[in-house]
Amino acid sequence: MSAHTDFRSRHLGAIGSDREEMLRATGYDSLDALIADTVPAGIRSDAALELPAAKSEPEALAWLKAIMGKNKVLKSFIGQGYYGTHVPGVILRNILENPGWYTAYTPYQAEIAQGRLEALLNFQTLITELSGLDVANASLLDEGTAAAEAMSLALAGAPKGKVFFVSDACHPQTIDVVVTRAEPLGIEVKVGDWRTFDPASCEGLFAVLVQYPDTYGTVADYAAFFEKAKAAKAVTIVAADLLALTLLKAPGEFGAEICVGSSQRFGVPFGFGGPHAGFMSCKDALKRKLPGRLIGVSVDSRGKPGFRLSLQTREQHIRRDKATSNICTAQVLLAVMASMYAVYHGPEGLKHIAKTVNEKTAALAASLTAAGVNVVNESFFDTLTISVTDADAVLAAAVEKGINLRKIDAKRVAVSFDETTTDADVAAVANVLGAKSLSSDKTSAWHADLSRKSAFLTQKVFNSYHSETEMLRYIKRLESKDLALNESMIALGSCTMKLNATSEMMPLSWPEVSSVHPFVPADQSAGYREMLGLLEGWLANVTGFAAVSLQPNAGSQGEYAGLLAIRRYHLSRGDTHRDVCLIPVSAHGTNPASAVMVGMKVVGVKCDEQGNIDVPDLKARIEEHRENLAALMVTYPSTHGVFEETIVDICESIHAAGGQVYMDGANMNAQVGLTSPGGIGADVCHLNLHKTFCIPHGGGGPGVGPIGVAEQLVPFLPGHRELDSKEGPVCSAPWGSASINTISWMYIAMMGPDGLKDATELAILNANYVAKRLAPFFPVLYTGTKGLVAHECIIDVRPLSEKSGVTVEDVAKRLMDYGFHAPTMSWPVAGTLMIEPTESEAKVELDRFCDAMVSIHGEIMAVINGEADATDNVLKNAPHTADSVIADDWSHAYGREQAAYPLPYLRNHKFWPSVGRIDNVHGDRNLVCTCDSVEAYAAAAQ
Ligand SMILES: *Cc1c(COP(=O)(O)O)cnc(C)c1O
Repeated sequence: MSAHTDFRSRHLGAIGSDREEMLRATGYDSLDALIADTVPAGIRSDAALELPAAKSEPEALAWLKAIMGKNKVLKSFIGQGYYGTHVPGVILRNILENPGWYTAYTPYQAEIAQGRLEALLNFQTLITELSGLDVANASLLDEGTAAAEAMSLALAGAPKGKVFFVSDACHPQTIDVVVTRAEPLGIEVKVGDWRTFDPASCEGLFAVLVQYPDTYGTVADYAAFFEKAKAAKAVTIVAADLLALTLLKAPGEFGAEICVGSSQRFGVPFGFGGPHAGFMSCKDALKRKLPGRLIGVSVDSRGKPGFRLSLQTREQHIRRDKATSNICTAQVLLAVMASMYAVYHGPEGLKHIAKTVNEKTAALAASLTAAGVNVVNESFFDTLTISVTDADAVLAAAVEKGINLRKIDAKRVAVSFDETTTDADVAAVANVLGAKSLSSDKTSAWHADLSRKSAFLTQKVFNSYHSETEMLRYIKRLESKDLALNESMIALGSCTMKLNATSEMMPLSWPEVSSVHPFVPADQSAGYREMLGLLEGWLANVTGFAAVSLQPNAGSQGEYAGLLAIRRYHLSRGDTHRDVCLIPVSAHGTNPASAVMVGMKVVGVKCDEQGNIDVPDLKARIEEHRENLAALMVTYPSTHGVFEETIVDICESIHAAGGQVYMDGANMNAQVGLTSPGGIGADVCHLNLHKTFCIPHGGGGPGVGPIGVAEQLVPFLPGHRELDSKEGPVCSAPWGSASINTISWMYIAMMGPDGLKDATELAILNANYVAKRLAPFFPVLYTGTKGLVAHECIIDVRPLSEKSGVTVEDVAKRLMDYGFHAPTMSWPVAGTLMIEPTESEAKVELDRFCDAMVSIHGEIMAVINGEADATDNVLKNAPHTADSVIADDWSHAYGREQAAYPLPYLRNHKFWPSVGRIDNVHGDRNLVCTCDSVEAYAAAAQ
């Protein structure tokens, strides 16, 4: 392939002579020599990756099209938590297909993330309003995991007792995920009929979970049951359907304390299982224990309102082994889509959609009843359960007509209607089920007491943008407040913000990718199964493992699934006592949080001054816990950005003591094609496909966190009721967020074995180039024995901070004035920045970033030298908004030009932060987590 048809040359930043120039700057004359000095010889693998040769963009698209063409796209009225929906075109094109939205990072730097923070606040408002509860988070991973998170939340507040009652009319996959999550925590799950279950006589009960409407379609009144549960000191949890809640009494109005569910049917396609945003809302009293991210309203330096992530200190990064949840990457992009669906339709539009769905269901119910067919549920919103003589025969007849129904058992089928259901569909379903003509009799759908009487979504934002022009501009307005990869590089250490190529993204909009329900018969998902099988094989080869599971839908869930496999392995060998998990103190906070969730005890391991694992301390801990050692969790290359030479020895020591090695693969971008977790000696490793394998960050999700495992752990990979092995599902769908695996598939298919290796080498070159350029100004904290870093580098701001009073946060905010998102701040070491440029950034962009950092260094020196005021300076007052810079009164000790245009390139193009620095403390003291729009807050503030 020539450079013009070769995708590799599009993915990699360095072109022409830039490579040589960067190499020279790092003191090397060949990439091979640099890599030889970076990656320890003992772990290098010289065998080429066994992957298909690189395809051009059109070739890869044609190949994937041929594979996915083997899916059969029928109308799926299977329901069970997944429903057909029309994605409004204005949302599809301007959010899902728009890099301004999908390439953004998690909104930790609030001042350049106001757009998605507003959209997420809208999401929280949508959830609190429909569920009738006080606070909602900005997304969980899916409905099953949300229910499991609710269980943990309830347990955290429970005085005693470990019995969790789950209604047998919850969605089956939800029950399965809850059971998986309960077992290691010693929670007993009692699945039964809530109508006959008596909370008062259940010893140790801490919470109850019911489904509304239930999986068979019934709209039950849980008020009396919840009263009994609360009297028995049990927390009341409802898994609810958002669309139904537009017509039904809100869970908060009948005594629910926690509500969970999926927002999928608000304009997010099936995608063969995901990604979709799960949700959770709760009573005010529980809000400080709410898992996941919570958006709040605070004020900025001008006293104007601004959004931010609230209570960041309760995130797993800080709480570590005290955390009740390990969730990090969530489903931000999908939560944004769902919130926009609600903004676009408004409360009346949503009610109309819901009524139409209900009327079609009523028409079907009446027709069936008139024809003498037995509809089992007396109340319903969108789902009917029907008694039949031969469920398989009915399903087959439906498939003949291009329709999928749900099989409950041999004698019962169910049908769930949705926004996409037409009158012709109703007639076809009626016909298949034995009703020859359609009756228009209105069946009473549910008890009048359960009708919704309270208003919802009365906020301005849900009542303003119902024309496409207005909606388009609202989306654009929010987008332009946010800095994403289509603006400048986002060198986020550990998060690998690389190119998310358009060709990788395009298949997501194909119907054969988006429109497949996760529980269709296997023959209808043949294309998906082939694509996922290929990807599993490729990733197994890249990681050096025996098998891969794509089920975990974030890195944290991969950690959980991997540790669960280790736990089940030990149990299978009778090693029931092995429950100690060694974790270096430098580990990501999700590591200890995940270990605790599988019932392990976390024991910290020290790091030495070079940031490496302190091997003598590790050996001492191994000795101390030899009998009970379950696992070591280790990140490689280390979170300090260095290939530790001792890793092979470390793995051997763990094995010798009977433990298993869990490798956190977030830094896989430094390994692909050069070495592998399996080759190094790990037993299990998760990948973050949303880091190394090009799935965009989506503003904080979605992600995919597959795990690769060595032979002995293969039997313990997560199963699912839709797969051969049913044990231990970790999320609702068999392949988790199946659809976005096409992105990583395309990446590997287009890069090929050589391209992937080249990417790793360039990522290492780019990081070393940046390290060399910045070292004279900011010391590079850790390097390997040859003075080199791996694919990221940590620069130390502390020496300058001590002399100037300028903090690393000031530097991060000042970078915004230069048009950049800050690198990872104060992690893994406080007062530092961790820079990961990735292979996709060109030298010109690396230089621009370094120029900005060098210029900021000069600004700090000015403070130290006394040329700039210690408090009134460009750093302390950063970021500078347009209105503050052009205001008539300018009283600062420095000039406006210096504030906004410190380097010449900004004259060509300037990104303006939309708010001044946001006050975190104020936001946490005054938690406001639902909208009004910013405009309304602004009006109120004036
Ligand atoms: C990103 C990351 C994780 C968590 O992955 P999520 O997908 O955000 O859940 C874990 N460990 C490290 C080192 C990471 O960088």
